[in-house]
Amino acid sequence: MREGITRRVDRLFPVGAEDPRESPARLSFAVNGGRLQASLVALSRFGPHPDGGAARLAFSEADLAARAWLTGEMRTAGLSVRTDAAGNLFARREGRENLPVILFGSHMDTVPRGGHYDGALGVLAALEVLRSLDEQSVATRHPLEMVVWCDEEGAHFGNGLFGSRAATSGAPEEEFHRMDRDGRSLADWMDRYRLDPRRIGRAVLDPRTVRAVVELHVEQGGMLERQGARIGVVDGIVGIHRFEARIRGIQNHAGTTPMAERRDALLTAARLIVATHEEIRRLPGGQVGNVGQIDVTPDAANVVPGEVRFPIEMRDLDDTVVAGMIGRIGERSAALARETGCRIGIERTLEEPAAWMDPGLRALVAREARALDHDSVPMPSRAGHDAQNTARHGIPTAMIFVPSRDGISHAPAEWTSWDDCALGAEMLRRTVLAIDRR
Ligand SMILES: [Zn+2]
Repeated sequence: MREGITRRVDRLFPVGAEDPRESPARLSFAVNGGRLQASLVALSRFGPHPDGGAARLAFSEADLAARAWLTGEMRTAGLSVRTDAAGNLFARREGRENLPVILFGSHMDTVPRGGHYDGALGVLAALEVLRSLDEQSVATRHPLEMVVWCDEEGAHFGNGLFGSRAATSGAPEEEFHRMDRDGRSLADWMDRYRLDPRRIGRAVLDPRTVRAVVELHVEQGGMLERQGARIGVVDGIVGIHRFEARIRGIQNHAGTTPMAERRDALLTAARLIVATHEEIRRLPGGQVGNVGQIDVTPDAANVVPGEVRFPIEMRDLDDTVVAGMIGRIGERSAALARETGCRIGIERTLEEPAAWMDPGLRALVAREARALDHDSVPMPSRAGHDAQNTARHGIPTAMIFVPSRDGISHAPAEWTSWDDCALGAEMLRRTVLAIDRR
């Protein structure tokens, strides 16, 4: 029986060479890396994907079973467990004084063919921190709570960060009517989770009741690996800005219209896409942009395209960098319009400003890394996280990253060495205790 489980786990977790760089401070870790590893393996059994990854979508039977398992683990650890109106799961350890809570955790849901570390590490490291504090009879001034944010990925109903949005800015009514492929609405699934959409407003956290939020997460990129570092201190989560470009030419017969007389909306769109990439690359810095979709009218092989729309998405920590890029793309589009005779309009469709992590907490995380004999790397997060919602809600928030092998995530090959998982958990513990002492 035991062998069976081991074999299955070997398949679930890509077996590779362990990180040879042993942390010199590892022996003095207060968290138990082996127990954290066992928890990660245990969680991986809920919603395993046949090809070795994880398929534990939010609002699914696999997620529900994982939550039941974790609730049991939390209770066994002596924590008091509650679920809020949005399905966020909290487990509390009381403090000595009547102070706001220090909140730390992440999410347990995955994308349809994801990995075993994204979200899971932050959740199980939080549990490991609470277990180790209890074992070592460490009392804190502040109450400590681990949090499992509900539906971070948005892979089931197409709108991520559900639980942390509900806990900060609230979730809009229309969200509950969204349907999945099986014809079930979010409201139906909430009912299965014993949640009532009409009570969602009760999930909103009063920022005065939360001293700080800390989220440990795998990097999901390759910056730490490239720099040979093992701890990232997130300075902010990049803003996401979307625009829609709309190009109007003249729809006509593809055989009878001479080349010189065409006003081809698709050809002009192609040139505008190239110009967009040129403008995004023009500046030094880490800003990124993408055109990943295109809508052609009438979309036929024998018709000169009359109208084309495509979204332009740009991400950067500095919103003024994005404003500059879209300004220059606008100038290029005006020049293209004059040259091609097409009409071009660019309109903003989404503005999600950057979310800065708390400067005092960032410095504190960097200090704790140094105390563990590690250099930390300040870095932006180019993926969205629940931490962006708590930061925007006025709660001092910090994020700690540990390396993702080859920068891979949202894929079965996602991998963070057990040593780095333990280091991340130790960093989380030290950060929480340092916040408690301040
Ligand atoms: Zn995540």
